Amino acid sequence: MSRFARVLLDQSARKPLDYRIPAELDSRLKPGSRVRVPLRTRVVLATVVAVLDESDARGVRDVAALLNDDALVRPALMRLALWMADYYCCPEEIALRAVLPVVIRKAELTHKQQLFVALARPPDEQERRELERRAPRQLDVIRRLERSGEPVELAELGGLRAAAKSLEKRGLVRIELERIARDPEGEYLPSQDLALNPEQAAALRVVCGAIDDPAGAKPILLHGVTGSGKTEVYLQGLRHALAAGKTALVLVPEISLTPQAVERFKSRFSGIQSRIAVLHSHLSEGERHDEWHKIHSGGARIVIGARSAIFAPLENLGLIVVDEEHENSYKQEDAPRYHARDVAVYRAAIENCAIVLGSATPSLESYHNAKTGKYRLLEMPSRIDDRTMPLIRVVDLRLQNRRKGQPQVLSAMLCAAIERRLAVGQQTILFLNRRGYSSALLCLACGHVAHCPNCSVALTYHRDDERIRCHLCGHSERAPKACPACRDPGIRQAGYGTQKVEEAVRKVFPAARVARMDADSMARKGGYRETLDRFQAHKIDILVGTQMIAKGLHFPNVTLVGIVNADIGLHMADFRAGERTFQLLTQVAGRAGRGETEGEVLVQTFTPAHPSIQHARHHDFAGFWEHESAFRRAFGHPPFQRFVLLTVRGVQAETALFTAQTLARRLREAAGDITVGEPAPAPLARVKGEHRFHLALRGPSAVRMSRMVKSALAKLTLPREVRVAVDVDALQLL
Ligand code: ADP
Ligand code: ZN
Repeated sequence: MSRFARVLLDQSARKPLDYRIPAELDSRLKPGSRVRVPLRTRVVLATVVAVLDESDARGVRDVAALLNDDALVRPALMRLALWMADYYCCPEEIALRAVLPVVIRKAELTHKQQLFVALARPPDEQERRELERRAPRQLDVIRRLERSGEPVELAELGGLRAAAKSLEKRGLVRIELERIARDPEGEYLPSQDLALNPEQAAALRVVCGAIDDPAGAKPILLHGVTGSGKTEVYLQGLRHALAAGKTALVLVPEISLTPQAVERFKSRFSGIQSRIAVLHSHLSEGERHDEWHKIHSGGARIVIGARSAIFAPLENLGLIVVDEEHENSYKQEDAPRYHARDVAVYRAAIENCAIVLGSATPSLESYHNAKTGKYRLLEMPSRIDDRTMPLIRVVDLRLQNRRKGQPQVLSAMLCAAIERRLAVGQQTILFLNRRGYSSALLCLACGHVAHCPNCSVALTYHRDDERIRCHLCGHSERAPKACPACRDPGIRQAGYGTQKVEEAVRKVFPAARVARMDADSMARKGGYRETLDRFQAHKIDILVGTQMIAKGLHFPNVTLVGIVNADIGLHMADFRAGERTFQLLTQVAGRAGRGETEGEVLVQTFTPAHPSIQHARHHDFAGFWEHESAFRRAFGHPPFQRFVLLTVRGVQAETALFTAQTLARRLREAAGDITVGEPAPAPLARVKGEHRFHLALRGPSAVRMSRMVKSALAKLTLPREVRVAVDVDALQLL
């Protein structure tokens, strides 16, 4: 009796197919194996998802070949991928690509091993002369190695590869499998474990308990204010996991933006430097491939990385840390649209390991899970050494405007505060969250913003038809010419960008050294690091930037943080706008006063009474949570209801809209306790020539909504050129 392999084809995102397993492969073929299978007249690559005793498929053909005896996708990760496909409503093959990236699949074909050429010893004078005369190409290789100062990839030598091999015979170079970096341990000063304060010690005890007995532990939410020493708790937790012979995984939001954090991990474990893998987006394909195999073969004990590192093929996991768990960059915006934090929680359950989610401003979702007992909440409410939290003051821009008549970038109060810092040689950070472009209408006189009566999110201004609309429920109305609240004609789109701020700063403080840091100014590789180093060395007095500078940075000489316009993020057509503003204000404020001198934060706003601003001002997370969760509950927003956002796009607006309407109708037929909204133009109504429509679903269970959408889509024949994207637990509502 032969058995069957159910496989996913690499090349297509369609349903899995069944193939018969030939007798000679039966004992070797497992779920996770990579195989070649016949498809019509070709032979294609595929991954085995399951081995079955029978198949009801007709015309089943044989598996053609097994690629590798070592199953490339481990059972736990295979389970994780299949869960993602179900939960995030995407084809299984698409989910599997997260777990087994295309670079790894490509390389397995050629079995190409990366070889490195290293200088074994420098040639002496006589050898050098001889090479020069008899083998100039070999001398070229030597020179190349001397210039680079480190091993060079054999493939990179191109036409000089043969010369390198001859040099190996002479004993002048070594050709080896690994790039042995120069004195890797020497790059970081080793750091010692710090003596913990009582709050940290209590948190660490819980973390260690979870590592020792993961089955009896819940995911841990570590809520510690900025500067409370969360990282030290992670570090000592990692040490505990390693000591127990286990491995550990640390997720950080964006690795290129968190060099300081990565360094702290690397330096603490400098003794096992070569067994730490850092996965970041700047790795070349070859490096990515090597790191993956190093982890897969058990060569790494600790993996540090951004979002996709959650799929690192570590075995024997003891601890997963998700730092800054509230960060939106953990959510992937292309299929599979997963949230690395939530995947981490599921992976921890599958792997039976401890998990710690840490933040000074936990997401409402995670805090809700803690409140309802799904997670265990640990609080660290005070800063290390009882340093005070920075003093936050609110500047009312409405008053400023009435005086000057024109919207001002820098208020008199902020200018005076910067002036004082310049006088005593302290540094300033000016922050502007510039993302609000297709934004709300804001009255410059009274601060009024139009809100949707059904959803209580800001209505988005659409210039093409002069209307303001809610894209969650579809409500729309004429854009007012004057403020509905105070009749002032000064109602206009909120927002200006960091460039304008930089310009204003240079004008007011011509002698100050100013730098700007945002996606535009930092496009050059390494520019970010360089600017931070200059800021650290106090070669910059005032740093202007976007959220890039809001996170995790530690500059003791920064005593003033100015938030130029707190409202920009606040009036987005997004029910998380208040939460994001609270988080950003708290995180940015946390950059001030990390040294001996107390910090000051000035928040400029048109809506000084807004709860997000007031609670951030008083460092009052609990108060914010009370307020925000009442609002979310009342309007049925997450975390009280789950949220799925469908985006239907197409070149023809009518066709796309019609598809969205058909889909909405079909979904309503099966909806039950799920609310299906009206299709409405997305805030970004046109992108790259395509019209975009949103359709929002809310209900008590994400997975049920996801399955419902999957089956509705399977029954629907989409018009050509119309695409539907499904985003479960969507964060991006544009
Ligand atoms: P968080 O991540 O909570 O914002 P950090 O881990 O960055 O806080 O800690 C803030 C500062 O306090 C860091 O410079 C860190 O080295 C220091 N620190 C942390 N724990 C201790 C401790 N137990 N004793 C002394 N200093 C500490
Ligand atoms: Zn609405």
